[in-house]
Amino acid sequence: MLKITDLVKSYGNGDPVLKNLDLTIEGESVVSIIGSSGAGKSTLLRSINQLVKPTSGSIILNGTELTSLSGKSLRTARRKIGMVFQGFNLVERLTVMENVQCGRLGYISTWAAMTRRYPKEDIRRAYQLMERVGIAQYANTRADQLSGGERQRVGVVRALMQEPDILLADEPTASLDPKTSEQIMGLLRDLAGELKLPVLINIHNVTEAKEYTDRIVGMRYGRIIFDDKPEMLDQAA
Ligand code: ADP
Ligand code: ADP
Repeated sequence: MLKITDLVKSYGNGDPVLKNLDLTIEGESVVSIIGSSGAGKSTLLRSINQLVKPTSGSIILNGTELTSLSGKSLRTARRKIGMVFQGFNLVERLTVMENVQCGRLGYISTWAAMTRRYPKEDIRRAYQLMERVGIAQYANTRADQLSGGERQRVGVVRALMQEPDILLADEPTASLDPKTSEQIMGLLRDLAGELKLPVLINIHNVTEAKEYTDRIVGMRYGRIIFDDKPEMLDQAA
């Protein structure tokens, strides 16, 4: 369970871009965060994995207060938070297998990915996940040879190799064409169910949010102004 309480973030001396925000996510639900550019969606997501340090407030993931961690305990906690990016963030000149093994390592290191001998169990798990998302045939292909949709599947498998307690996706389909976007959203929804994994997705495409997620959180000027089932959105608008 993820429980965010009274979260505030200001950059520098500016006005807060997150204003006393509360959000709780339980179970394996797929939650989307929508809102116009600048609403604070990325800041919220990055606060959860502590890429952004909140100014105040609490973020508890399965009993661990994330905001007070640093050093080794932060790195350990971060391994339980999978992240999928808009720009995929793959190492282009590494193979798919090497990229996904970075998820198991818990950090992206070209050197480690290329020189490390992966435990059999990690190879097996990687193939299992790659089969599931349809990229196993590219295991030894360099990431820069793949299409956008294939790259994002690599990004998803890399995140799942961390065996995360929650999966965060920051505009995961914004670089993809509409058909590929739908495939990736469908995949995230299905994986959430299969792996019993809560998934939190920043998305600007409201149609996709309604179609593929169980709950929509609407943000505006650093606050949550809507939090309900997708079908309630039309009544609120
Ligand atoms: P989004 O696509 O989520 O709206 P932006 O285009 O606003 O993101 O931001 C892109 C990057 O620039 C992000 O890493 C964000 O943290 C950073 N950024 C955005 N606004 C500012 C700012 N005013 N000062 C410094 N960095 C910023
Ligand atoms: P969204 O993802 O909804 O577009 P962001 O979280 O990227 O919103 O941005 C919220 C606000 O915070 C924006 O006004 C943006 O310019 C500002 N911002 C984001 N990142 C930074 C940063 N690194 N430094 C300063 N301001 C930032």
